[in-house]
Amino acid sequence: MGAVIASLFAVFAVLFGSTGAMAAPLAPATTSVTAGTSNAAAAAVVVTSADGKNYVIGTDTTFAPFEFRDSSGEMTGIDMDLIRAIAEDQGFTVEIRSLGFNAALQALSSNQVDGVIAGMSITDERKKIYDFSEPYFESGVQMAIAQNDTEITGYESLKGKTVVAKTGSEGETYAKSIAEQYGFTVQSLDQSATMYESVKSGNAVAVFDDYPVLAYGIAQGNGLKTVTDKVPGGSYGFAVNKGQNPELLAAFNDGLAKMKADGSYQALLDKYLAEPKNTSGGSFFDLLGQSLPALMKGLGNTLLVTGISFIFAMILGLIFGFMKISQNIVLRGIATTFVNIFRGTPLLVWAFFFYFGIPQITGQPVSIWVAGVLTLALNSGAYVAEIVRGGIQSVDPGQLEAARSLGLGYGKSMQRVVVPQAFKIMTPSLINQLIIMLKDSSLLLAIGFAELLYQAQQIYAANFRVTEVLIIVAVIYFIAIFLLTKLANYADRKYNR
Ligand code: GLN
Repeated sequence: MGAVIASLFAVFAVLFGSTGAMAAPLAPATTSVTAGTSNAAAAAVVVTSADGKNYVIGTDTTFAPFEFRDSSGEMTGIDMDLIRAIAEDQGFTVEIRSLGFNAALQALSSNQVDGVIAGMSITDERKKIYDFSEPYFESGVQMAIAQNDTEITGYESLKGKTVVAKTGSEGETYAKSIAEQYGFTVQSLDQSATMYESVKSGNAVAVFDDYPVLAYGIAQGNGLKTVTDKVPGGSYGFAVNKGQNPELLAAFNDGLAKMKADGSYQALLDKYLAEPKNTSGGSFFDLLGQSLPALMKGLGNTLLVTGISFIFAMILGLIFGFMKISQNIVLRGIATTFVNIFRGTPLLVWAFFFYFGIPQITGQPVSIWVAGVLTLALNSGAYVAEIVRGGIQSVDPGQLEAARSLGLGYGKSMQRVVVPQAFKIMTPSLINQLIIMLKDSSLLLAIGFAELLYQAQQIYAANFRVTEVLIIVAVIYFIAIFLLTKLANYADRKYNR
């Protein structure tokens, strides 16, 4: 509780206090997440070594053959093998965070990760905010359409149509650069799997993605084909935040050079590019069996984050709920402001703010659990405050008067007479709020929190079986919420009668 209040104060201090920090939120923070050099000017000079350190590396969810999950759910691919081999050679360890491409870049900007390897193209724009390694793979953008599409023969056929591209990617930049000329609309999605699914289902006519990835997918039989030439450009590089972790970048370059020299880099490429494995086979029950362990882990996180957040939401709700009915105008004002702020702003804004915003302003990374719990607890706390206020106010005022006339003080009358009755009235709404919160917790996937829907995305991003995986997830949510409701109603009957 103390920690939450302290963090709350920190947030408000940031919001209403130091305008200096707000004025330059994009300036690279000078504090390093790990023990690197804190002097940005010395970035070019390697003063420490990466040896013995552990680095958090952000990556895309799926960008096969560069990063994807194998059948056992492990992140694999060229990028993954490359960073692990270099880590081993250079004596550091890595912790991979599969966040999605755009989220990985945001996490790098906010120092939530130390580096990004995600088939990330080295561009002049990006060089302004990140430091890149030597290039390790030639790439560029290409367009792909559904295999059975005979209408689209080139960019000219795109007039009036919608195409998809990945948020924040080079494919998106390229598609947007020619959109006006050819008269099409660009819709941005976060994942390769959903982009391809969009095209196959006819929601979009084409996808703009990197050609090595399209070629790999097409060879795997993902149902797409290409009809236009590739647009050359953009080699892939490993990135760190500008001026941060120079020793990691140096170690990467050194390891890469060694691997190129002794042929192990070529062997790594051959391993993935020679014979793309078709991963999309198997019956529904195979899929269920394979995905259940990861989904159960996700469900565990969903329940845990919901449970913890609900406790904090109740505490906040009780405090602010009572403040709302207080005689004191200042307390009422504070409570009303709290409720208005958190009820009047989307949950996702706060998730991004706590996870990406705060670290960018303060230079201090925020744990994903802290960000997740703060987001859910503050949002729900506002609703619980209103439930508490409503519950207390709906107890007949005569009850309080009667208690007082029997000689009980205000506090005792509230505690013994009003609150127990109010609690009974509030219970159904509180159960409702708990269920809403459980469902809302799925939004935390946007910051890479490994809850149930996030795990599902990771799975269909790898095997492209979007519909089936979503059906499984919906059933799991339904059962979980059904059981939770039964349990809550049982407790309600037992203790509130
Ligand atoms: N190479 C592209 C880019 O850097 C796409 C990367 C990706 O989707 N993972 O923008």
